[in-house]
Amino acid sequence: MTSARFLPEVPGLSVLGVQTAEPVAVLTFDDGPEPNSTEVVLAELGAAGATATFFVLVRRARRHRRLLAEIIASGHDVALHGADHRRLTSLDPGNSTKLLHDARAELEQLAGVQVRMFRPPYGSQSPAVWHAVVAAGLVPVLWEVECREWDPMPDTDPLADFDNLRRGSIVLGHDAIASVEDGAESLVVSPIDRRAITTAILARIQAAGLRAISLSRALERGRPRWRVWLDKANAPST
Ligand SMILES: [Zn+2]
Repeated sequence: MTSARFLPEVPGLSVLGVQTAEPVAVLTFDDGPEPNSTEVVLAELGAAGATATFFVLVRRARRHRRLLAEIIASGHDVALHGADHRRLTSLDPGNSTKLLHDARAELEQLAGVQVRMFRPPYGSQSPAVWHAVVAAGLVPVLWEVECREWDPMPDTDPLADFDNLRRGSIVLGHDAIASVEDGAESLVVSPIDRRAITTAILARIQAAGLRAISLSRALERGRPRWRVWLDKANAPST
């Protein structure tokens, strides 16, 4: 993703998908790495011949370097979800650029690859947060379709949003759920069968006639689909 494709003069402008002629969906997983869960996702992706982009927390990547290495060795992208899972709009904007810059530098050191893509925790982005992200050399990446397997509401279809899936959509999934220790807001989550939900995501993508690939691979043959994403416009609940 080159800076020439980026239009930093428009606050909130973020990548939500990829404009491409290829029949692909861009698969992403947040909040890991987590032992016994990230491996399950990696195994399912491997079995399906799919690639994905993993937005990781540095706090976790530090403790699970073997998983980070496994993600990269399997041909997937490593991207930044934060030093931890604190909502950036709740922090002093004056500190956010340094926080993000340092998190990116540490993740690059841990992973041994360049990191440019960033997903704000909860998809929560104000103009001040967006400016901090860009100033840290990162590109905000949000989504068009999300899997809500963490939603404790009974009788909710976690894949209901997949009716909106189209060519080049960025799909939000999880290989873990951020905890209070990660700085996440308290959330009641029922036990999640990570293998079953990952299989279901891959099946829905395939049923739409699409292949699941990582963001970097999708951008090799496509260009970013930009849209302004700010808290007021999107009011994300997670
Ligand atoms: Zn998250």
